[in-house]
Amino acid sequence: MRIDIITLFPEMFQGPFDSSIIKRAREQKRVQLNLVNLRDYSRQKHRQVDDYPYGGGKGMLIKPEPVFEAVEALRSHEREKTRVVLLCPKGELFNQGKAKSLAEEGHLILICGHYEGVDQRVKDELVNEEISIGDYVLTGGEIPAMVVTDSVIRLLPGVLSSTKSVEEESFYEPLLEYPQYTRPEVFQGLRVPEILLSGDHEKIRLWRRQQSLLKTLEKRPDLLQKAQLNPEDKKILEEIFTDSLKDY
Ligand code: SAM
Repeated sequence: MRIDIITLFPEMFQGPFDSSIIKRAREQKRVQLNLVNLRDYSRQKHRQVDDYPYGGGKGMLIKPEPVFEAVEALRSHEREKTRVVLLCPKGELFNQGKAKSLAEEGHLILICGHYEGVDQRVKDELVNEEISIGDYVLTGGEIPAMVVTDSVIRLLPGVLSSTKSVEEESFYEPLLEYPQYTRPEVFQGLRVPEILLSGDHEKIRLWRRQQSLLKTLEKRPDLLQKAQLNPEDKKILEEIFTDSLKDY
């Protein structure tokens, strides 16, 4: 997969893109990451890419011309093979489902806004979609682009040592992951649940599923409504409800 990121601050990506799983994925050529400086597409003196908003108002906006030119230069020959995404607080909220769908693409172009954002014509005519990473406003699209890139790269075949680890993580299904423990067995008087030391794989699988459903019910009940629950899950939930009623 190739991911091009159009940004005014390519240096911000040093560090996150040169460490850990992203670094390894790049070295193993599972992903080609390309940072593109928007100023390289400015035709103005001093490589300026922003201007005042029509109608007045505070702040500056990124002009359409450099963004259009950068995207056109980066697009695959067959236009439909490139998915162009603008990071924008007004976009669709990012989630694991969106990460999965982006990971299936061959070529992504991510555009990072800055200042007060980008000219509306970029949104109307150039991009396939706008993505927000949450209901808050950041200074620029660079951190959102890192978030999207990281979550997509983890899903590419061969990037994580086993696809099982992806499947068991939070949100692969709309469920939160079960609690995990490592050595020591007792820390500050707190014991690892006995069942995890039992060596009984079936019991451990059931306990993990129960914990996953319980954590989701406690922390994100909204997710449970989207989950496709099998008969075993429904039985576990019934038991959870019956147990909680006993406490009353
Ligand atoms: N004036 C804009 C508004 O009120 O919607 C906010 C502009 S923000 C300061 C500058 C840039 O940061 C945006 O163009 C976008 O690329 C990025 N950005 C900020 N918050 C974001 C978020 N929650 N998700 C994705 N991108 C975001």
